[in-house]
Order: sequence, then C-alpha cells, then structure tokens
Amino acid sequence: MTSADAEQPLPRRLRKRVAESLRLSLQDVDERWHAGRLRVTTAKFQSSDQVNAVLLNMLPVRDPRQLMLLRPVPYPAYELLRDENGVFSSMLACAGAALMIVSFTPLLEWWTNALSRPWGDPGGGTLIVLGSDTTGDLIGEHSYWRGVYAVWAWRGGAFQKIIVSGPESMRPLAEFPRIERARIRVLLTDIDDTLTEHGRLPAESYLALQRLRQAGLAIVPVTGRPAGWCDLIARQWPVDGVVGENGALYFRYLDPERRMLRQYARDAVRRAADRLKLDRIREEVLASVPGAAVAADQAYREADLAIDFCEDVPALPRAAVDRIVEIFAKHGATAKISSIHVNGWYGSYDKLTMTRRFLAEAMSIDMDANREAMVFVGDSPNDAPMFDFFPRSVGVANVLDFADDLRHKPRYVTKARGALGFVELADALLAAR
Ligand SMILES: [Mg+2]
Repeated sequence: MTSADAEQPLPRRLRKRVAESLRLSLQDVDERWHAGRLRVTTAKFQSSDQVNAVLLNMLPVRDPRQLMLLRPVPYPAYELLRDENGVFSSMLACAGAALMIVSFTPLLEWWTNALSRPWGDPGGGTLIVLGSDTTGDLIGEHSYWRGVYAVWAWRGGAFQKIIVSGPESMRPLAEFPRIERARIRVLLTDIDDTLTEHGRLPAESYLALQRLRQAGLAIVPVTGRPAGWCDLIARQWPVDGVVGENGALYFRYLDPERRMLRQYARDAVRRAADRLKLDRIREEVLASVPGAAVAADQAYREADLAIDFCEDVPALPRAAVDRIVEIFAKHGATAKISSIHVNGWYGSYDKLTMTRRFLAEAMSIDMDANREAMVFVGDSPNDAPMFDFFPRSVGVANVLDFADDLRHKPRYVTKARGALGFVELADALLAAR
C-alpha cells in the first residue's frame, strides 16, 4: 500500500472521483489535499477467500444500487459417485481433512500473509471505496476486493466513515458492455441537441429511431418541448409515446383505435391556476433580465413557462440564466435549464416521474424493476434526474459543455455531438442484438 504525497497534485481521475463521492467541488478537494486533510491510498490485494462478501452489507452505503450488484458466488455442485474401491472415499476424506485444517487452524492466515507484502495501513476520517467495475450483474473483481478491504478497515476502527462511490461517470461509450447493450428493451431519449442538430432533426437520427423501433425496442422521447409538438411526435414519429414539458404530460397514439391518449401530472383546473402565477413570473423575468424572451413555442405549452436564452435570442451569459432560475424559485416554482430554455412550473413532477407513470400506464412496464433493460440518452442539466436513475445512461458529447453544472452525470458519453452521437448509440445497441 502506498500513501500519496500531499505535495504532489492529486491524480486527475482520482480527483474527480473523490469530488463526486464527497460531493465537493474540485477546488475544495484540492484545498483539502494540499492542507493534508485528505489522503488517498491505493491498495493491491492478493487473492484471499477469508472474508465473505456478505460482510459488505455492514458498510454504510451511500448508493445502495452498487451493493445490489453483489451476488454470492455459488459453490460448484459436486456429484458424489459410487466408488467400489474406496479410492474416491479416501480422496474425499483427505479433502475433508484439508478443509478442516484450513478452516480451523491459522494456516490460511499464515499463507495469505506470506503471499502479501507488508503494508502500512492508513487511518483517517473517510475512506472512499471506488466501486465501479461490473461484469453483467456482478460486481467486478477490483471493486469486490476494495469492498473487502473497506469492511476490514471499518471493523478495525481505522476510519470513521466509509463511502462506496457509485460507478464512474462519463466513460467512453465503447466501455458500455455488449452483454448489457443486448439487454436493452426501452430507449428513452431527450430531443433538443440529442436528436437534433442546430435545431433541426436530421435524417440520420430519424432513421436511427426507425431502425431501433424495427429491431423491437420501445422508443420514448422525453423532452421539455411543448404539448403541441408532442401531439405531432406521438402521432407521426416512429415512437411508442412521448413525455413532454419536462414531465407535465405524456401522449401516446393508439394506432388501432386511431385515438390519442393524453395524460397530465396536474389536472386542467390546477393548470389554469398555475398559468396565472406563471404569467407574473414572465412579467418579472422580461422586466429584469435584458435579452431574455418568452420561448417561441410558448403558445403550444399546456403546463409550463419557457424562457428562451439561446434558441431565437443571442445567447445570454450564465449569470443571466441563473437570474431567471432565481426568479422562478422566488415565486415557489421549479425551474430547470435545458440547452436552450429555462423551463419553470408548479408541481413536484419531472421527466423521471412522468416517464415512470407513462411506462406503467401505457406500456405495463415497471420502470423500477426493469431499469437494467432501459437506456436514457440526453445532453443537459434538465436530464440529470434521468442520468441519476438509469444505470445505463448516455450523454451525447455536447453534455461535456455542462459537465460542471450536472448534479448527476451520465454513465457513458458518445464521441460525436448531438444527432451523430445519438446515431453512435443506436449503432452500438443494434450491433449487440
Ligand atoms: Mg436537450
């Protein structure tokens, strides 16, 4: 085991993981590191079966999903053979004796210590266990051994707090394992700057949607775009339905019945009352944030207010966007930043809550029980609840523009931006089928 020297900068990749695990800014991590208040150790383990994975349940886990990946390793089932000559019985007896010796004497401990080099075991306030690698549903070997070490350290009282970090975010799409890609049955996708390129829907992404649907995947755009657009998308695109206005509604066109199914998070009476309050926010934003405008698609919205900061107006500075969000918050509304608009609304819904309802009601899919079979792809902060929930989440490359503002980051990132990034994901999913 080696202790890194606080005089040296913290390696870039570890720095990011530590910041994510402790929910600190990179600057805070650097300050703590240089003040000697943070120590990062890396350990290499020799194989040992002394500690059972069950002990991991004793860890105070920040992200229980990581431990849900643990599965006990099944012992091989031996079939006992009839042995006329007694040779097999003798061998079995010897094996039994060896097992007794290994189990009840310090032999294994002695052997393990002989194999492993001596190390100076550190102590400290917090130990961060980098739980990341997985093979299918199984936790990876390195994460497993780190977990074993964490239990050992924790039981020895060396650390006050142990955090098992979630999987490392923003990895290249090429690391999305084929076996996991083959399991995907539902593709949830943002629209703006994920399917579109400079505001247009190119043939490449439309064709990719069609190819995925023909291959048997359910396709559901999940967008901040207005109800009016959703009506067209549900009716005309190769999709199974659409969640719109950041989760205010879902539409699904039932082809055999030639009927549009429309469901809303809040009923018509509450939406009308919300509109009066949103009108006051609109007046305040227009009066106090120069350059901001009501989004051009506002006329087709049923639940939210969209303020344009980048679509049809010259891009506003970050401070102006933050000011718009503040005004929504001051009036008790929820506000989310997309790549082009700030959308605000009343109610506790978001893209994730309405997607859960859509899948359950319209497609009889339990989202919580089946999230391993789903992939979400998006590009901006209003996609964060989806990035957080779906273990198979993907950002098209332009998500990197928002990297510092993302409360939750996607697991994988494509090489290409926007529509071509989406096509890259579609190809990866289709190649695994
Ligand atoms: Mg977007």
